[in-house]
Amino acid sequence: MSDDFSDPVKRALASRVGNLCSNPECRALTSGPQDDPAKAVNLGVAAHITAASPGGPRYDAELLPEERSAPSNGLWLCQNCAKLVDNDAVRFGVDLLLRWKGTAEADARNRVGKTAASGSAPGVNLQDGIRVRIEPIVPRRFERTEWLVQSNSGNAFVFQKTDSMATVEIPVSFIENVHRFRDNAPALVQLDGRLQWISVGQRWLVLSEKPQPGPHNEHGYSKFVDFDYPRRMAYTGEFAWCREDRLAECLSRGRYIFYDEDGKYLRVPGPDIDQILVSSRP
Ligand SMILES: [Zn+2]
Repeated sequence: MSDDFSDPVKRALASRVGNLCSNPECRALTSGPQDDPAKAVNLGVAAHITAASPGGPRYDAELLPEERSAPSNGLWLCQNCAKLVDNDAVRFGVDLLLRWKGTAEADARNRVGKTAASGSAPGVNLQDGIRVRIEPIVPRRFERTEWLVQSNSGNAFVFQKTDSMATVEIPVSFIENVHRFRDNAPALVQLDGRLQWISVGQRWLVLSEKPQPGPHNEHGYSKFVDFDYPRRMAYTGEFAWCREDRLAECLSRGRYIFYDEDGKYLRVPGPDIDQILVSSRP
């Protein structure tokens, strides 16, 4: 049996990415007018990130049927790209598809309500191979590291962190400003949003809110959980809870703030002061 998406889920998936294919190399518009003035064509497909039935691409037996047909398991693609990703489940793995989804949704969130002129970011001029710094990044200490412009698809740039193999794709619509400097200084890329480290999955995501001003600026956004949360979420690693007033000390001893899937760090309210989850690796 097959756990297909309902029509409301399909419509939501399409709308959440502005009816554009989520493949960053494609970004085809998936809807348009028909000859009948009351009708529209739809060339989009609500693709399954993990397959709807056993034997399908990226099938995950651990998921419940309702999780397989939930919006979180869906990705809006044009018909061509939907075939592509289902014909090669190795090249187009779950992590890659989740990254496409995150970037496409972030791009739509960033463009919604803006005029075509402001969304097209005509001033972004970054050649492949040049060095840049990016801001804002959470945690802010990463604003001192350098990235290389690896490629440019016209809609998005791929940056590679020079001290690791990590890459991130940033839609052009997210780039607010590029400052070029004289001599050999790296260019400064300023985002209308933020680049965020996610500890779960060890990856970078582009998110729409900028870091808040104030004392917690350095570490971005937090959310309240309970002490059992990391176990319940089956997060593995060496974790510790650190009092907020001793956070600087914890970090100086080689601990890192742990960031959840949504880019938020975790705090448990205490009687006098909150405790923050830290991990032994970044
Ligand atoms: Zn496509």
